[in-house]
Amino acid sequence: MVKKILIVEDEAKIMRTVRLYLEQGGYETAWAADGAQGLAAFRHEKPALIILDLNLPGDLDGLDVCRAIRRDSNVPIIMLTARTEETDRLIGLELGADDYITKPFSPREVVARVRAVLRRTEQPESVPEIVTASDIQADLQRRVVTVAGVPVELTANEFDLLVALMCSPGRVYTRAQLLEATQGTSYDGYERTIDQHVKNLRQKIELDAPQPRYILTVRSVGYKFTED
Ligand code: CA
Repeated sequence: MVKKILIVEDEAKIMRTVRLYLEQGGYETAWAADGAQGLAAFRHEKPALIILDLNLPGDLDGLDVCRAIRRDSNVPIIMLTARTEETDRLIGLELGADDYITKPFSPREVVARVRAVLRRTEQPESVPEIVTASDIQADLQRRVVTVAGVPVELTANEFDLLVALMCSPGRVYTRAQLLEATQGTSYDGYERTIDQHVKNLRQKIELDAPQPRYILTVRSVGYKFTED
């Protein structure tokens, strides 16, 4: 089935180039030029992935749109940001975006990242595995996580990060290793991304996020899953 990618971007030139490359890459595209249109298009186009510019004209910027979509959907979101918008980028990840691309970018990179995010978030066809560690269970095929039997909604990044940690309880992972596990590459060495994902994850799976019992911080190294 051909997947539809929604592009929310007000700069016509960028939008046209990205569309062209995605269509050459075998995707269908839909686009919107501001946040309100973007939300409307998300609802009726039912895209497989959204490319969302942070800086949009009108009442809703990219962060507002991301927040609104995340209220009822885990659809993969890749944000487009300018180099100077580091804070926005962090807020975007906090809101549950799956990846970001910094402007200026090459259209080929966009297609590669779309493929990578879709590959990560798609359900694999015949992986029967369930990973269990402590009282957390992750069903790799259905991409469902339960904590003490209670289902928890995770974004694609959070799921991959948790599974990577759970596969070897007690093993200490560096941020770079975790970036690699969640993104397939540590392409820009932007390791604070991992801290943000861990923070989000803890809020969802820990009873008391500041006193985590599952995902433990290993000072000046990285993180590990508890051995208990
Ligand atoms: Ca813009």
